[in-house]
Amino acid sequence: MKKKIAILGSTGSIGQTSLSIFEKNLKKFKIYLLSAHSNYSLINKQIIKFKPNYFIVTDPLVFKKIKNKYKKNKTKILNNFSDLPLMKMKFDITVSAIVGIAGLDPTIKFTTQSKKLLLANKETAICGWHIIKQLSKKNKSIVVPIDSEHFSINQLTKNYKDKDIKNIYITASGGPFLRKSLSSLKNIKSKDAIKHPNWKMGKKISIDSSNLMNKVLEVIEAWKIFPFNKDKYKIIIHSQSLVHAIVVLKNGQSKFLYHETDMSIPIANAIYDNNYDIEVLNLKKNSFNKKKQSLTFEKVDKKKFPIVTLLSKKICENSGSIILNASNEVLVDSFIKNKISYKSIYLYLKAVFSDKDFKKYAIKKSPSINEIYKIDEWARRKTEEIINKKNG
Ligand code: NDP
Ligand code: MG
Repeated sequence: MKKKIAILGSTGSIGQTSLSIFEKNLKKFKIYLLSAHSNYSLINKQIIKFKPNYFIVTDPLVFKKIKNKYKKNKTKILNNFSDLPLMKMKFDITVSAIVGIAGLDPTIKFTTQSKKLLLANKETAICGWHIIKQLSKKNKSIVVPIDSEHFSINQLTKNYKDKDIKNIYITASGGPFLRKSLSSLKNIKSKDAIKHPNWKMGKKISIDSSNLMNKVLEVIEAWKIFPFNKDKYKIIIHSQSLVHAIVVLKNGQSKFLYHETDMSIPIANAIYDNNYDIEVLNLKKNSFNKKKQSLTFEKVDKKKFPIVTLLSKKICENSGSIILNASNEVLVDSFIKNKISYKSIYLYLKAVFSDKDFKKYAIKKSPSINEIYKIDEWARRKTEEIINKKNG
């Protein structure tokens, strides 16, 4: 029997990469369910090419157009996840690749219905890992983080306990502004921040990479997923992006995972449990073919990347991470829409954390889904308020 596949966020960067891997072996995999938000032309192409049994299109206008167009088609088009008879379904592999907090609820629901969940959606790990962990344990589902750093930490720490580990370094490329002077960072526009030197990714994560917020989110993600002492995690600049995480052991040895800058590698290995011949995918990058390939590691310049100073247990340990995530989503969106400057992302985050109500919302240890949404909503409202006040 073919393995049943669901991809949440199939039109995105991770979604498309995942599809391109499954596509190489459609004798083994059946693309049973896809979901997307608003990319009309790609949704059309994916319906025609993969003939999924279900396609969930969450944008209401695009949903109407697609629904009308495929009225007589075998693929059922739905507008939201709650219209899906999910409890009657079982998936072999689900890829969670929606961007933002919108990915949380569907990922939680699919955890109980999937044998293996490939987790890309950072927000799920940051806001709801305690829920995913509990559900996956109960349902015996395997969760594999596919963000390259977490995929690496997962591999590297398998045979070690906290007592064996001195530090875990999460590498950062440093983004497009690593070699720019501090003064030239004043007039950054979103089109500059989106240009990542090494990776091809969605808009939001590319902007987060340019100011190192992506690393702040990734350390929090690691805090939640792995059971190691939080103080052991460090961010280190590695501009080649070939080493994704380094585990420094107490015995003096360090281990790291090296792979080309292509998300197909962690995704394919997560799908095939590390038994995959990557040449099947014909990837173009091969750093060993270069005449010279250096690997450099540098300390983070906190003046240039002040956002890393927000990574404190006081702010991010408990539900403060939900606030950080939500406020950042609002600020990045406002930056893309030219409503705020690049520098304001950091300054307005600080303003949210100094709000009189911050503590009240930030101290929850294991919030329920409803509580997560309440905290998320407060953070969004507060951030909008701060933006309007500063702009006003
Ligand atoms: P993209 O922006 O490329 O894609 C996002 C996907 O989510 C699209 O399919 C999009 O649909 C869908 N989507 C957007 N808004 C909504 C919504 N409100 N409701 C439902 N679906 C929605 O993102 P990426 O693929 O880059 O990233 C996806 C996730 O994976 C993020 O959490 C990111 O942090 C994480 N990640 C990404 C990496 C990467 O290399 N790209 C690496 C590691 C983690 P549509 O396009 O049709 O509107
Ligand atoms: Mg990453």
